[in-house]
Amino acid sequence: MSATRDAPETKASAAGSTAADRYETVVGLEVHAQLKTASKIFCACSTTFGARPNTQVCPVCLGLPGALPVLNERAVRFAVMTGIAVGARIAERSVFARKNYFYPDLPKGYQISQYDRPLCVGGRIDIHAGGAWKRIGLVRIHLEEDAGKSLHPEGREGVDTTRVDLNRAGVPLIEIVSEPELRSGGEVYDYLTRLKQLLVYLDVCDGNMEEGSLRCDANVSVRLKGQEALGTKTEIKNMNSFRNVERAIAFETERQIGIVDSGGRVVQETLLWNADRGAAEPMRSKEEAHDYRYFPEPDLVPLDLEPAWIESVRAALPELPYQVRERLTREFGIPDYDAEVLTETRSLASYYEEVARRSGNAKLASNWIMTEVNGVRNKQGQSIEEFPIRPDRLGALVKMIAEERISGKIGKQVFEMMRTRPEGPEELVKAQGLLPIDDEASLRALAREVIASNPGPAAEVRAGKERTFAFLVGQAMKQSRGRAHPEKIQDALRKELGTK
Ligand SMILES: [Zn+2]
Repeated sequence: MSATRDAPETKASAAGSTAADRYETVVGLEVHAQLKTASKIFCACSTTFGARPNTQVCPVCLGLPGALPVLNERAVRFAVMTGIAVGARIAERSVFARKNYFYPDLPKGYQISQYDRPLCVGGRIDIHAGGAWKRIGLVRIHLEEDAGKSLHPEGREGVDTTRVDLNRAGVPLIEIVSEPELRSGGEVYDYLTRLKQLLVYLDVCDGNMEEGSLRCDANVSVRLKGQEALGTKTEIKNMNSFRNVERAIAFETERQIGIVDSGGRVVQETLLWNADRGAAEPMRSKEEAHDYRYFPEPDLVPLDLEPAWIESVRAALPELPYQVRERLTREFGIPDYDAEVLTETRSLASYYEEVARRSGNAKLASNWIMTEVNGVRNKQGQSIEEFPIRPDRLGALVKMIAEERISGKIGKQVFEMMRTRPEGPEELVKAQGLLPIDDEASLRALAREVIASNPGPAAEVRAGKERTFAFLVGQAMKQSRGRAHPEKIQDALRKELGTK
């Protein structure tokens, strides 16, 4: 080993930085979202999840010879709604294409998709990363049919078996392809969260990743910061939760930096994320030898959309997440942060709106939902629809607190009771004896009791020892179980002590 070679420049110490600091990750995502139509994209079979295998099939989705596809209008509408919501250009003519490949769960031997003439072009998703908004461009959104599902149950005596369920074959999907503009697992996580939120607001997809309604593949490469050219990418598949996507990208980034930084070359390949092992592993090569030989689908005419129809879809679009956020900050004067939390789902936003209106105190309503309601929901894994305290009852409780008829502390006790009981806060407060003591007569009576049971300290205060007064106030609060009005009881004590 010569002195010149290992002299000053181990790469990490040269710039005082690690390899991870000098490289950046470049990620593009392909998200498949299952559209919430009642029937499949090219036939009338049901799309209901969880039915017995192969009970929702017909000659069209089984790919039997001579069966012809008929396009589902609602699938087109849902795809166009999504395109408009992300600001994409909606193509007045798009073309379906056959994507040819052989797989046991693809009975036709091809999938009907769109290739060079997709339905939606361009668009963007705005993400919130590192304290600032960032715009992620979209390449396209196209319509396609899903394939069936291969199941690999435990074989008898160790013999591997594969079964095929074609209920999913022909379920409508949109594929949403992003530009390679995401730079970290965190940005990818936020992108996916916002995309899912948008699809659920639009009510075009249920966003359920466990049931496969939302699936994500990531193209990942690394390059030195400041470099223009993209590095060689790998594609990661099989990530079934947003957290797994984030983990897989972190893993793959580190792996690629390790290779490139030691002078090696990344091999372009498809990797499967193994969540149990926390590693992305190469697919067997025969499974990734893709040459799809796309050609226009001869059984379907081009999809031509009237501009007036596109406009009618635009006009009927529901309020989008960012629009609800803006409206809540404008109408209720709550901070951006609150609006962001409260618009997580459309139903949470509606819940908030009702509590804010009924309570007459929008910020207090927001605080109660963000801390108490969301605290319980997160612990119990409840959606806002499942949360037992409906907004009318919570609104009444927040109103009592806002009007200082009960303290926040008593409010929390009532809130706990309301979770398991049907009564409103007014009834509970009365029935449980939680009403505050703030009328003169009751406060004076309480003060007399406290003085009588603490003659020593009372004498001290009368003799001018002010510090002991706080002790008497504390005793009064304790005796009233926190119900005495904290300022008024001081007044009453002074009057009874004769020091005022
Ligand atoms: Zn069918």
